[in-house]
This record gives sequence, structure tokens and C-alpha cells, in this order.
Amino acid sequence: MPSDDLIEKLKEALGPQAVLTGADAAEKAVGGWSALGVPAVVLRPASTEEVSAALKLCHAAGEAVVPWGGKTGLGEGGEANGPIALSLERMNRIEEIDEAGCTMIVQAGCVLQTVCEAAEAKGLIFPLDLGARGSATIGGNISTNAGGNRVIRYGMTRDMVLGIEAVLADGTVMSSMNHLIKNNAGYDLKQLFIGSEGTLGIVTRAVLRLWPKPRSQDTGFVAVESFDRLPKFLRHMERALGGTLSAFEVMWEDFYKLVTSEPAKGRPVIPHGHPFYVLVESMGGDQEADSARFEAAMMEALEAGEISDAVIAKSQAERDTMWALRDDVAQVVHTYPMFTFDVSLGISDMESYVEDVRAGLKAKWPESSLMVFGHLGDGNLHVIPGRFPDAELATRRSVEAVVYGELRKRGGSVSAEHGIGLEKRPYLGWSRSAEEVALMQLLKRTLDPKNILNPGKVLEPVPHAKAAE
Ligand code: ZN
Repeated sequence: MPSDDLIEKLKEALGPQAVLTGADAAEKAVGGWSALGVPAVVLRPASTEEVSAALKLCHAAGEAVVPWGGKTGLGEGGEANGPIALSLERMNRIEEIDEAGCTMIVQAGCVLQTVCEAAEAKGLIFPLDLGARGSATIGGNISTNAGGNRVIRYGMTRDMVLGIEAVLADGTVMSSMNHLIKNNAGYDLKQLFIGSEGTLGIVTRAVLRLWPKPRSQDTGFVAVESFDRLPKFLRHMERALGGTLSAFEVMWEDFYKLVTSEPAKGRPVIPHGHPFYVLVESMGGDQEADSARFEAAMMEALEAGEISDAVIAKSQAERDTMWALRDDVAQVVHTYPMFTFDVSLGISDMESYVEDVRAGLKAKWPESSLMVFGHLGDGNLHVIPGRFPDAELATRRSVEAVVYGELRKRGGSVSAEHGIGLEKRPYLGWSRSAEEVALMQLLKRTLDPKNILNPGKVLEPVPHAKAAE
């Protein structure tokens, strides 16, 4: 528990309105996508200088600080039961857009959707696209290296960030606000803070990379009769569309049925009865020519037998209908008790992986269900087994043994895009070598020797320096 003395000093440094305690602090933890616990204190700094001042005080006192973005993380990375949470919500401004250079300077607490809309108003795009866009913040996206629907074309968050300002555990402001695409002058320090989930520093500002807004969009929905046809269709579309493929989202039959049947609002755009469905999309520079090319590519795939049925959206409403099916992940609540997984593996291992996970679960829980969908072009599947007798930890561990056990055999990753947080920490060593984990621990000890930054997340807790003193 933070001492009264520390809380007083924090109030002096940040102003009393920026230091919430008791019920006010507890209330701030409500409404996230996963449980955040009950923090003793919630800090709401309004500037980098205030983040620095707060960390300096907490560092001196040896108090843990958990950074909060939009509270939409799925790996329990924002869990703050007891310590001090630091919310970036007041640092939510877009500071600058450079249209010629295609860059944007933004504060960490800015909501993703706000960033995207500001870019679009200038004829540009920030191509990070994910379901939580209305609440997730850029700082959270950076700290988790968020993925989403357009990775196949634009990469992960890491590929969209040119520069970063972060505050280190002791309050040092590390400004690395690079604007250049090419900068090989020494270590690329921003990468320390991208995807490290607030364990090495708190991201306060960033230089984002923007792209010219595509002029055309073509969206199609297809049925595929066997898994081996999926990579053939994917590579065919990549070749035929010449670099404009922007989404390749695959749904296994059970998931498609779930989101196109009551009580879901969606209805089939292609009839039930196929093992796989794909939402495929292209973004280019000339609507008429791109639509003709998209249709021709789909026709070729039909003729080659790679796909067995296809629908092409003829309006924005039809496009929205297709995306709504893919995005209606909330329907999985009807398979509760269920557990969600975010795994990555080679495309050629996917079919056997899903079959072996299904068989492994059925052997133990004959009533269980398995919903699978994901960004197949990136090797990323969201796997959601459900209809278990309960959601207890023991059940979860048994399910993880199957889901991660089959993954480990195939050299996959336990986290494709959600991060490790607390939830996947026991399995970090299943996807990273002992040497990799040791180097992560070394970085953590070096940058945060008192272990105050989001302690216990990603890595097993290192002994607290204060306790050892
Ligand atoms: Zn995803």
C-alpha cells in the first residue's frame, strides 16, 4: 500500500484532482474488458513532466505503478490490484499532423479512432484496425504492439511507429521522437517500449507513420471446401491483386454458423454447409479498374476450384454486413463457460492443429465446442473453446494444456497479438527459448532495478530491490 506521505507528495506534484484514492480509485477500474482489480491509487497526469514527477516519487518509495490505456487489453496486462495505476487518459491530444511527411505526433492517451479520423480528414490513414478502436488508446496499442485486421498489408503497430517518448522507472524522460523512416544510428531504442506492456517504461507520446488513403475498396466473401485450398486462394489473390490485398479473414464453419444464426443478428451472406469462409478485401488507387481486377481474380479462383462460392459487396452497406459477421466475436458468450486464445503458427500446420485441439478437447469434454477464426494471412488464429462445465482455473489449465500443448509441438506462439500480461505468463517459455527469457529478465533488471513498472506482467517477478536492501 502506498504510504500517506507518498500520496501527499503525489498530490503536491500533480494536483489533488489528479490523484484518486478509495472509492474514486476503485471506480476507475470498472468497465474494462478484463478485471483490473482494485487499485489503491489512480494517477491522472496531464503531461510528460507530470508522469516523470510521479514515477520519480514512486521510484523513491519503491511503489509499483501499473500504466493504463483504454482498458481493452485481453491479457490482464492492466491488472492493478493494490498498487498505483497511472492512467494516460488526460494526455489525449493530437499535437501535429505533417501531411507532406505523412507523420502524426500524438499523446499516448489519444483514442485510436480519434487518430484514424484525424488522419482521414487529411486524406491519409493510420491503418491500425481493431474491434476496440473506440476505446483503445495509442499508448496501449504501442505497449502491446497491437495487430488487427490490416496486418497483412501494413504490419503490426511496431511497423507504424517511427518515434517514441517514454518515461523510465526512475522518472527519466527518454525522448526518441524520430520522424525518419530510415535511421540506423545505433540501437533502435523505441523497440524496447513497443510490445513490452509497460514493464520497461511508460509511453507518453509517439510519432506515428501515416499512409495516403486508398481510393478504392473491394470486399468479397467466399466459401472454401478444404483447408489446403485456403493458402492456394490466399497466394492467388496476393499475386492477382499486386500488393493491394488488405484483409484475408478466415472463419471456420462453427464460428460462421454462430454469427449467422439466432440469437446473433447476422444472416448468412453465403449459405451454411461449407467448412471455411473467407472475407477478402483489396484497397487500391482506381475504383473502376480495381473492381474489375478484383472480380477477375475471384472468377479465376472459382474456375480453378480454389473457392466454391463467392459474393462481392456492391455497396458500403453490403461491405459493412460482411465485416459485421467477422467482428461479431461477442457471440461466443453463448458458448460460456469458454476461454479465448490468440495463437500464431505456420499456415501449413493450421489444419492439423485445429483438428488435434478439437479432438483433444472432445476426448476430455465431449460436450465442448470450438470456435476458430482469424487473420490467416498472418498465421494468427483466435481459438475459443467453450461449453465447459465451469470456468475455474483448474479447467482453464486443462484446456491450456491441450491448446498450448498442440501449439508447442508445432513451434507456434502463445500470443500473436494480445501480449502476455499476467494471463499467459506461465507459457512464455513455451514460445521463447531460455536464452530469450533470460535476456528479457536482464533488460527488465537493467531498466527497472526496483521492479516498480507493471511488476509481474510478462515476466516472472524479479525480487524487489527494496525488499533485498
Ligand atoms: Zn485479432
